[in-house]
Amino acid sequence: MATVKSELMKNLTSEVAVPHSKVSIIGTGSVGMACAISILLKGLSDELALVDSAEGKLKGETMDLQHGSPFVKMPNVVASKDYLATANSNLVIITAGARQEKGETRLNLVQRNVAIFKLMIPNIVQYSPHCKLIVVTNPVDILTYVAWKLSEIPKSRILGSGCNLDTARFRFLIGQKLGIHPESCHGWVLGEHGDSSVPVWSGVNVAGVPLKQLNLDIGTDKDPEQWKEVHKDVIASAYEIIKRKGYTNWAIGLSVADLTESVLKNLRRVHPVSTIVKGLYGINEEVALSVPCVLGENGIAALIKVTLTREEAACLKKSAETLWEVQKGLKF
Ligand code: NAD
Repeated sequence: MATVKSELMKNLTSEVAVPHSKVSIIGTGSVGMACAISILLKGLSDELALVDSAEGKLKGETMDLQHGSPFVKMPNVVASKDYLATANSNLVIITAGARQEKGETRLNLVQRNVAIFKLMIPNIVQYSPHCKLIVVTNPVDILTYVAWKLSEIPKSRILGSGCNLDTARFRFLIGQKLGIHPESCHGWVLGEHGDSSVPVWSGVNVAGVPLKQLNLDIGTDKDPEQWKEVHKDVIASAYEIIKRKGYTNWAIGLSVADLTESVLKNLRRVHPVSTIVKGLYGINEEVALSVPCVLGENGIAALIKVTLTREEAACLKKSAETLWEVQKGLKF
């Protein structure tokens, strides 16, 4: 029977699309959807798959997103509770899990989210055995390690969003103090995403001018300007936002889209993301912490060996010990 569709078009190729840069997002809560919209607005994927165990919400979020198709060059968006929808993903972003409650530390969340990862990871790997994985769910460093163990994929293909967000907050706050756009304020926060993160004051610079050259005591208690408050504010940011709006989502969504861009476009840009760091900086435990990583189409192509001061290296080691203390007791 002739239909409007068949009368309108003469097909020259099969209608089955083969995605080349498919991204899947597991968890369509506030963070997952902020990642989704950021990735869509940047036009990074040619198929987006959304998975969540809460089917009604998943359907609602997907419909709402799809109705924006006329306004962005939106690729096919598929959604399902079933991981089959994620098959052949280049990149899978994990945001599913319980979220940090008001006043709760990220480390407290751990056991609840490990149980969820035990269900999720085998499904992801079954359908996309060659994918790269970005873990966002908190506590992100520990869950990056857990996802690596459960998935058995090479560590180069798995990363945690880690201090990418902390570093963005750091650069924003430095920019506010100097009246300079954060893009031009260079500095890195490494280690644990969260309470024991390490600001690398020795490397903070604007236009190649190290701020430490202008203020030898920057970042220390002796500093009359008390720049260390900037890092304290970085740590307090998430707690502050959660206290006010219940969750954080926009900056993490934008930062994950930035990581996605480096991977899918093979940009080889350097980002502070969480990776297994055993053997570096005197760290002997199998923990994932943020260090500057070169990201490309195969995931983490290389790590940058940062020159740290003695104090910074000691803080990083302490960060590793804090994580190991929690990790060693995990059952999975
Ligand atoms: P949310 O509660 O809004 O969303 C979580 C989603 O996960 C929900 O839609 C829920 O249905 C889904 N989910 C739960 N169990 C699932 C399962 N077994 N399978 C599939 N889906 C499942 O939470 P949110 O605000 O989106 O935060 C998500 C996570 O991201 C939290 O762990 C939060 O702490 C973390 N987070 C990390 C960063 C970072 O920098 N790494 C920043 C912000 C938030």
